[in-house]
Amino acid sequence: MGRYDGRVALVTGAARGIGFGTASRFAEEGASVAVIDLDESAAAEAAGRLPLVEGAKAVGVGCDVSDAGSADAAVARVVEELGGLHVLVNNAGITRDNLLFKMTEEDWDLVMNVHLRGAFLMTRAAQKVFVAQKYGKILNLSSVSALGNRGQANYSAAKMGIQGFTRTLGLELGPFGINANAIAPGFIATEMTDATAARLKMDVEEFRRLNAEANPVKRVGAPEDIAAAAAFLCSDEASYITGQTLYVDGGAKLG
Ligand code: NAP
Repeated sequence: MGRYDGRVALVTGAARGIGFGTASRFAEEGASVAVIDLDESAAAEAAGRLPLVEGAKAVGVGCDVSDAGSADAAVARVVEELGGLHVLVNNAGITRDNLLFKMTEEDWDLVMNVHLRGAFLMTRAAQKVFVAQKYGKILNLSSVSALGNRGQANYSAAKMGIQGFTRTLGLELGPFGINANAIAPGFIATEMTDATAARLKMDVEEFRRLNAEANPVKRVGAPEDIAAAAAFLCSDEASYITGQTLYVDGGAKLG
């Protein structure tokens, strides 16, 4: 008997990285899972690799979370194809790093649109289902960069915005049986951090090694570290926890 038997979980940006790790964990624990990503074929391919339990289903849906029509259509399709919706994870993300004086308006808007507008649009679509059934779990991906990070004025602002958004969802949706929390990961080894290494003209393994060395627990994170926290926060065991941001960073923010 899994914690997510009979549940449907939708994870955005789940074709790879933290999103795929989280989608896999929900699948292992019994959920039917929707993999949402920009590219439908990548989403479908990832959905086909999920470790589903018997009787559970998966679907891959192409969707740009920053587009209202696309977000509404994705939620409607998941409800139709998987028979409901119980968990929403707003994970889709991008970076467009640059020092402030070199940051373009396009790079500012793009990052705001995917992270903040995307989380807003997906949550607005999902809450209709959640409120009607008086049950729902929302998990938003913030970051340690919310506390400030050189070269990430756009990303940092979006990720702190996610924390305020999450607190407000907790207040507004709590009376309807809906919990909303956020996870703020530290360094997690994914294509996103590999791209940062490339931007800094560093070897990926060396970049990871240096980040591990600087971390109190002496390693970098893996998508599974975030998935484990996500599986707890979206479970019924966490029903008295809402509006919170959990830092999953090996203690990095202590430094
Ligand atoms: P990732 O490997 O780059 O994966 C992000 C996924 O989101 C990609 O599949 C990407 O698709 C998708 N995506 C981008 N824009 C989208 C849109 N408009 N609509 C739908 N999907 C979209 O990133 P990750 O490292 O797993 O990060 C996942 C989340 O954790 C992000 O919110 C990130 O900010 C946050 N986070 C990551 C770290 C870290 O160290 N990795 C730390 C803190 C927070 P495409 O490939 O088609 O672009």
